[in-house]
Amino acid sequence: MTRVYYDSDADLGVLQNKTLAVIGYGNQGRAQALNMRDSGLNVVVGNRRDDYWNLATRDGFKVLSIAEAAEIADVICMLIPDDVQPPVYDQFIKTYLGRGKTLDFASGYNLYFSHILPPEEADVVMVAPKMIGQSVRDLYVKGSGGPALVGVQRNASGWAHQTALAIAKAIGATRVGAIESSVEEETITDLFAEQTLDGPFLLSMQTAFDVLVDAGYNPEVVLLELYSSGEVIEVLKDIVTAGLYRQLDNHSTTSQYGQLTRAPMIVSQNTKTIYQQILDDIKNGKFSEEWELEREAGYSKLTQLKKAALAHRINAAEDRIKRKMRLSWLSETGEGGSSSE
Ligand code: NDP
Repeated sequence: MTRVYYDSDADLGVLQNKTLAVIGYGNQGRAQALNMRDSGLNVVVGNRRDDYWNLATRDGFKVLSIAEAAEIADVICMLIPDDVQPPVYDQFIKTYLGRGKTLDFASGYNLYFSHILPPEEADVVMVAPKMIGQSVRDLYVKGSGGPALVGVQRNASGWAHQTALAIAKAIGATRVGAIESSVEEETITDLFAEQTLDGPFLLSMQTAFDVLVDAGYNPEVVLLELYSSGEVIEVLKDIVTAGLYRQLDNHSTTSQYGQLTRAPMIVSQNTKTIYQQILDDIKNGKFSEEWELEREAGYSKLTQLKKAALAHRINAAEDRIKRKMRLSWLSETGEGGSSSE
């Protein structure tokens, strides 16, 4: 049975008179640090001395080196990217973990794949927001919150679960519901969704663009049809609110018939076999090993793949449509591909 925790299930008192060190001040780091401070907790930030350090200082935090923050903290929140956590943990944090300390992760990745092995005496918890950092902050400020998964990897003190719930409350998650989960469940489902849905979504847009443009249709009209009009945002919102198939009634019957008859030609039994292979590669550690080798190689493959993606003609079409159309959401993004026309 799914166990969901709300504010009344969590006690911030567990974290009163304690120091929480937020390691990293990026997407999750800034959002969680601000929310926890606004929830009345004593928060310091641990970061390298650079722009993020300056931002945390401007936001009024006491900012320390990662090692100094880890040393003085009762709860250490690992909010730097997953791929850099193991060396940072080994170099600056491991020494300061011991009895009475809690190590908190926003993702189960490094625990599940045993890239980080905290000492037996420390509590190890996971509070994983299912929301980007900016939304974790924006929703909190509005009096709401982003949902999260909570889990306990090691309960050395006997208080680890209460600590995890208190962190979830402090960042606003228990206002809307924090689900009891585990490091394994969070890691597998998170990676699987990225690899089977997010990536293929981008590539299917590009493939549809290529087919229509090669057939002689105006790239800007094609882009408007595919995603630039913003209709896709509304459809995704309807999926979230009404439901995956219940939102179909918002489309014409012609559209409904086309969608339901053609989709199985693309997403077939073979797709399920591929999904299964992707799931196996995540679970048996093959993907994680590949990503570790990529990190060691200086991210050369990732750099090359992103370079190729940003050189695709769809980027130039995006630039043109952004210039020509007065659609507010087209000017909301700052970054993106820039290719010559
Ligand atoms: P970010 O990429 O936003 O982290 C940036 C921060 O990490 C900066 O403070 C940066 O400081 C620091 N950092 C980066 N590289 C290093 C390094 N080599 N050594 C020391 N500090 C470094 O991370 P996210 O917020 O995206 O992710 C943090 C955690 O939250 C991850 O576990 C992630 O899986 C999880 N998560 C993230 C979500 C999101 O919204 N992005 C959603 C849910 C969970 P510097 O200036 O020194 O580089």
